[in-house]
Amino acid sequence: MLNKNMIELGTRRSCIRELFEYGNKRAAEIGRENVYDYSLGNPSVPTPHKVQVVLKDLIEKDDGKSLHGYTSASGCFPARQAVADDLNKRYGTDTEPGDIFITCGAAPALTAALRAVSCPGSEVIALAPYFPEYAVFVAENGSRFVPVAADTDSFQINFEDLEKKLNEHTQAIIVNSPNNPSGAVYTRNTLEKLAALLTEKAKEYSHPIYVLSDEPYRELLYDNAELPYVPGIYKDTVICYSWSKSLSLPGERIGYVLVPKTVTDAPLFMAAVAGASRVQGHVCAPALMQYMVSRCISLRPDIEAYDRNRQTLYSALTSYGYECVKPQGAFYLFIKAPGGDSQAFSDRAKEKDLLIVPGNDFGCPEYFRISTCVSYEMILKSLPVFEALIK
Ligand code: PLP
Repeated sequence: MLNKNMIELGTRRSCIRELFEYGNKRAAEIGRENVYDYSLGNPSVPTPHKVQVVLKDLIEKDDGKSLHGYTSASGCFPARQAVADDLNKRYGTDTEPGDIFITCGAAPALTAALRAVSCPGSEVIALAPYFPEYAVFVAENGSRFVPVAADTDSFQINFEDLEKKLNEHTQAIIVNSPNNPSGAVYTRNTLEKLAALLTEKAKEYSHPIYVLSDEPYRELLYDNAELPYVPGIYKDTVICYSWSKSLSLPGERIGYVLVPKTVTDAPLFMAAVAGASRVQGHVCAPALMQYMVSRCISLRPDIEAYDRNRQTLYSALTSYGYECVKPQGAFYLFIKAPGGDSQAFSDRAKEKDLLIVPGNDFGCPEYFRISTCVSYEMILKSLPVFEALIK
């Protein structure tokens, strides 16, 4: 007998993947240039040249002994040292290599942290709009998934609903800023308010409430937006990071969990992350990528193309009458669906080969997401379709 739940999870594709596959099918039928595919968040900016140079150098100088071998499960020392040095330089912290666990991207970082905090009866909160996989990650790693309604005025945090959802079973809350799908960046004020509320509730319930800060979009900021260092505001914060988006290499699978020393029971938390990774069969993250990271730690993405796409789409769509909070980070726009039913609107768009993701799985069925990591030419060609649809 096989596990029904796993069969169900493996068979039912996410609606993002569903649209992406549909786009490929249509591209084969009518030509790629006639499909306006805004579904996937696959970085369109090339991987920085330095990454290629470093990878080539690593391979050319390989002595056949260690380059492709196992590293320790938590990652090779040079990579963890480089991450620690970079964090200390940027945020004035006292991070050490032992506070870092290198993973195969943000998703395994998050699932390890989630498993680490999950106990019988535990709950984990996610703030709408949220990355749809959170629901699966939370439930399958041992906690009840508790969504909090969105603050649709600004896509900051709906504190009224958050207060209602916090209770003695709350073990953690996932925070994702810059946010997928809204592109919102939580302000210092928002994070301070969150920290005050969680500190008060943790005291009331006599146990810590951890913030799991999911930060794959940390380096993708526009309009000089400030992204505060979350553990500096709330001490029980664990960071889940990835280079998937910042270095445009989501297929190479590299990221980390940071458990700062300020976290309650930090050594035990780190031990639980290591235990959770063991359960996931995580022997070590790709070694070549780890060595690359140790030499490319200060690289930042060139986000000019994303910014141009963001500005063009935001200006054009709002001028047609679409309602959207201007994103300050990541590479998405989250737009109110005309008529209020994003699934119906997405279906109508699909008939015109415009692929936009309905917001149901993000916890906001009245909104749809478009990804701005697409070609500028495609944007220009698709604008009349957006205009026709709202009319
Ligand atoms: N978290 C968010 C908010 C994301 O958007 C993604 C990927 O799109 C992930 C986590 C997973 O990132 P990774 O590819 O590094 O596992």
